[in-house]
This record gives sequence, C-alpha cells and structure tokens, in this order.
Amino acid sequence: MKRSDFLRLMSLASASLCSASFRAMAEPLIEPVLTLPLSPETALPAYEVNAHFVHGGPGFGRRIALTFDDGPRPGTTEIVLAELAKRNLKATFFIIGANAKLYPDLVKAVHEGGHEVANHSYTHPQLSKLSNEKVKQELERTQEAIYNSCGVLPVWFRPPYGAFRVNQGPIPRAMDLGVAYWSVDPLDWKKPGVATITSRVLSQTRPGSIVLMHDIHQQTATAVPAIFDGLLEKNYVMTSMSGFLGHPYPAGDVVES
Ligand SMILES: [Zn+2]
Repeated sequence: MKRSDFLRLMSLASASLCSASFRAMAEPLIEPVLTLPLSPETALPAYEVNAHFVHGGPGFGRRIALTFDDGPRPGTTEIVLAELAKRNLKATFFIIGANAKLYPDLVKAVHEGGHEVANHSYTHPQLSKLSNEKVKQELERTQEAIYNSCGVLPVWFRPPYGAFRVNQGPIPRAMDLGVAYWSVDPLDWKKPGVATITSRVLSQTRPGSIVLMHDIHQQTATAVPAIFDGLLEKNYVMTSMSGFLGHPYPAGDVVES
C-alpha cells in the first residue's frame, strides 16, 4: 500500500474514533471491567461497557469476513462447507445452541473444515427484551453446546435480529465474547431467489464488510458458488471473523470477577 493511501485510511479511521466498531478493533481496553449482574436500570454509555461491538473491519488488502447464521442444518450446511472447501475459503458460522445440541456432528464438521464456530444464542430470541439472567443463560448454554460438539469455545457472539442493548454488553464480555453485527445483508432468509441473493452480496460488499448469510436455506446454499467466485473475481480476501479482526480480547486483557 502506498504511504499516502495508508495515511488517508488512518485519518478516516480516526474520524470514527467514537464509533464502537472502530474502538473494537483498534483501541486498547483500559477502562475498568464491569462485573455481573447488572440491574436492568443500570444503563451504561457505550464507552463504559468495555465490550467489543463490531460492524465491520479495516478492509486492508480488500479483506472481508464471511459469516453464516442459524445453523447447522443437515442438507444445506454441508453444501456451504463443500463450496468453501473447494475454494479453500474460511468463514464463521454463528450457530444456534439448540441446533448444536441436535446436530453435534455437523458442528464438528464445521470446525474440522477449518471454520470458526461462534455463538448465536440457544433459542434465537430477541435478547434485547430478556432479563440479564436469561441472556446469560442463552449465551452460556450455547457456549456449552458448541464446546461439547467440537471442543472449541467461541469468541464471537451475534445477537439474533441484531437485537441487543449496549447495557447488555458486559454479559458477553464476561464470557470473552465479542459482539459481531454485519454490514452486508442480502436478506436471504426472505428467499428472494438465488440470482437476487448473489447480486445483493456482490453489489453491497466493500473492503471491510462483514457479509451475513444463512446456511439453513436452500437458496443460499445454491447461491454460494456464484457469490464466492464473484467475490474472488473482485479480488476480495475472504476470511472468518477472527481471521478478519483477530481475537476480540487479546491475551492480557483479562476479565476480573
Ligand atoms: Zn439468526
């Protein structure tokens, strides 16, 4: 990268210093860590929550993150895995805990394919409407189900529907889970057709994007070959959340309880 490009990118980045997503990537965590449980009325401003909420990444080298939600599901997850493997691509699968419990071998296949397993709650509720204790249970049960399936403890969590309150941030934080949103959404769950899903992803993706798809839908499974090839043709470098952003809480940033 030319130095002038680098300086321009850095100035863009510092302009968004107050956004949670940039803080999540670049700022050392120096605030005191909050301990659970928080009462619902304890509304905290984002800068005090000390949890990583990310919506995108820096995009250096045209990097993007591929993410698949709501699985695993027999019949479609395998297709997505096979198409990723054909191209030697890695992705993050935000797994529903109840599905991990039902299909532990499929979770294992995701992990053994070199992909990242991540937490998408246990029953896919609107977490923003639940008590802190319920949210904690949703996240913990999912960590446990995924760990029992493949021996890996996730480090990223995605709230179903994106429904999550900033003052719930300490709950995933206490489990070392970063909170991952997305920036490209083809609305594949509405089943708009394979061509529409494909063109939406290809037209919306930019360097630094986090692409959201669902490995439980046949249309998505049918669309992924063209999506992956189209992104490769545009010289995007596809990776998982952690491949894209690193660990949300690097070593040394220890939660005190
Ligand atoms: Zn979902």
